[in-house]
Amino acid sequence: MKRQGVKKEPGLSWIEVGAVVHSFVSGDKSHPQSQKIYAKLEAMVLKIKEAYSVSVDTWKFNGNKELEIEVNFHCKRLAVALGMIALPESSPIRVMKNLRVCLGCHTLIKMFSESERRNIVLRDSIRFHRFSGGSCSCGDYWRNQVEVRQTTSHLLSI
Ligand SMILES: [Zn+2]
Ligand SMILES: [Zn+2]
Repeated sequence: MKRQGVKKEPGLSWIEVGAVVHSFVSGDKSHPQSQKIYAKLEAMVLKIKEAYSVSVDTWKFNGNKELEIEVNFHCKRLAVALGMIALPESSPIRVMKNLRVCLGCHTLIKMFSESERRNIVLRDSIRFHRFSGGSCSCGDYWRNQVEVRQTTSHLLSI
């Protein structure tokens, strides 16, 4: 899977709806339902901001300046939003990702699982994440493995 000599493989997320696989890159606007997807994503983010009383575009958690969630359109957020629109409410949302999920998206998807009352399963290049009720089955494995500084620069590079 890993290609040597390629500095940064483009991130790709995909989701199956019915028999059709929909794939996204970050900031993707090529999907025919793109407008709906972005509107849904923005509505979900707004819901969380209200719930957590956050009014700025960069969210700081636990008073930790380094741990921020930038509002962006990373591919897995788009795939999750399509799942919210297109799949029946009783159905879990299963998203695949060719790279490791970034910490910002991991935190955000945890929140979505609570605010939208949906179970979300994300298979990234390392492991399965099962998000439910605001927590993830990996027990925040991510946080222990990656330096926050590294994560922050990844977020800013998008
Ligand atoms: Zn991300
Ligand atoms: Zn996880």
